[in-house]
Amino acid sequence: MADLKEIASGCLHCPKAFCSANCPLCNPISEMLRLYASGAKEQAAELLYRFNPFPELTGSLCERFCAKNCIKHRLGEPIDFSPFELELSQYPDIRIKKESTFQRIAVIGAGPAGLAYAYKRLLNGDEVTLFDRFPSIGGAIYAYIPSFRFDMGALERIHQRLLSLGCHFKLGYEVEREPAGFDKVVYATGAYIANTAGFAINEKTRLGLDLLYSLKHGSLSLPKDGRYFVYGGGNVALDCLRSLARAELDVTLVYRRSELEMPGDKEQLMLAEKEGAKLRCLTVIEKVEGERLLLKPCELGPVGEDGRRSFKVKEEEGECVDFTELYLCLGEKPANKDGLTYIGDAALGSSNVASAIASASAID
Ligand code: SF4
Repeated sequence: MADLKEIASGCLHCPKAFCSANCPLCNPISEMLRLYASGAKEQAAELLYRFNPFPELTGSLCERFCAKNCIKHRLGEPIDFSPFELELSQYPDIRIKKESTFQRIAVIGAGPAGLAYAYKRLLNGDEVTLFDRFPSIGGAIYAYIPSFRFDMGALERIHQRLLSLGCHFKLGYEVEREPAGFDKVVYATGAYIANTAGFAINEKTRLGLDLLYSLKHGSLSLPKDGRYFVYGGGNVALDCLRSLARAELDVTLVYRRSELEMPGDKEQLMLAEKEGAKLRCLTVIEKVEGERLLLKPCELGPVGEDGRRSFKVKEEEGECVDFTELYLCLGEKPANKDGLTYIGDAALGSSNVASAIASASAID
């Protein structure tokens, strides 16, 4: 693979840059690549921080909207800005905290959106207290993202950056009612009401997020001779799939659309297959019957209102397969109350790390 300077030099500096136009954070990618290619990495980092306070998060976890939309895709060599973000995140953010009309701000939820909002207000000179029910910052990143996919040390570095700006933390703290004594309370509580698609949750049919939490923070051990199924096509599904494949378990991903439509990170899918995971696309799980799943084939239909191809279950008999455990990874939605201010997945539904960070700019 070419080195980063060579990749940066290959940018065409498109007058209408689809990379930036499709980036939730509107990262000025062309200009940063120009600076990087000329050796001005500090200036590239300085520019990056103005758009994205946490490039260490997006560098590892973003869905790479830049590469998917880069004009060079047509030539088979799109520019992926993620490795640049990771490298530039090694430079400090040199912005200085303002002297401002000071406000007391409470942020409930220390995931990417809550962290970005807290950081913005701290730089503005406000006093910020960040609450989270987990004992660490990071929200879903801390709770669920497997450590093989993300360097958890990055969360500690972000924690230190916020501490150095005077942020107060209440971690491992369940907020049951709106905290008193603040001028503003912002909720970045995520989307956590799981879509179960009508399946009953029990000891054999579980939520993918629960699996990821148990594998990361508990001492879950699964029978080696079991047959495991993951249902869904997003990154939670792929994290479950890879976690089980890496544990050398027999695991199959069942997805309703084709591989092309799968929203999860294609690189993770490719790695999961290399690690031994199996894939059944254009398939639905019609029913769970005791120890067996009834699988039915699907076909793709026209593009629906959500911009995605619809799918239709074929009128065929289907296939019954034995299973040990099934993990549902079909998305989550928030449970919000009227009259409160929400950002991140709590406002957007399950989204992505870049959109969550960007949502912090949407409110004062
Ligand atoms: S779309 Fe690709 S080639 Fe064009 S400016 Fe963005 S990164 Fe450079």
